[in-house]
Amino acid sequence: MEKILISACLFGENVRYDAGHCLIDDPDFLTWQEEGRLIPICPEMAGGLPAPRPPCERDLKTGDILDKDGQNFTEAFYNGADLALALAQEHGIRYALLKEHSPSCGVNIIYDGTFTSTKIPGSGVTATLLKNNGLSVFSEFDLDALKSALKGA
Ligand code: SF4
Repeated sequence: MEKILISACLFGENVRYDAGHCLIDDPDFLTWQEEGRLIPICPEMAGGLPAPRPPCERDLKTGDILDKDGQNFTEAFYNGADLALALAQEHGIRYALLKEHSPSCGVNIIYDGTFTSTKIPGSGVTATLLKNNGLSVFSEFDLDALKSALKGA
């Protein structure tokens, strides 16, 4: 049975910057949960950040991850990405389901670093690291594609 690494906020844990969650509402998702296939991690909290915490975006010029006041959280974000990859490798995981738009978990779209709610094509640091290490990474908007991939696995 293929396990799936999942953003802890999509799993229903209150780990977001605002201490909330974004639990996925889907019957197959509930089945995966009951089967114990889902391995949750919040990379930002694993990297040492609390909830709540300031929302951060990646500065497109430097690559650093900052809050809107310029406080630099880059190290925690990259530490969390390393821990997410280590967890995936520990469980032999080949698939990940991550929260779109996050500077950690965003799969296809992230914010542009201006704190103006402007979105651009791109991936968060955890999603990028997982992709670069051979995982297939899906966002909550690609749930059907993940289901298809699992059927063929
Ligand atoms: Fe969710 Fe990922 Fe942000 Fe944690 S880092 S709150 S798991 S999107």
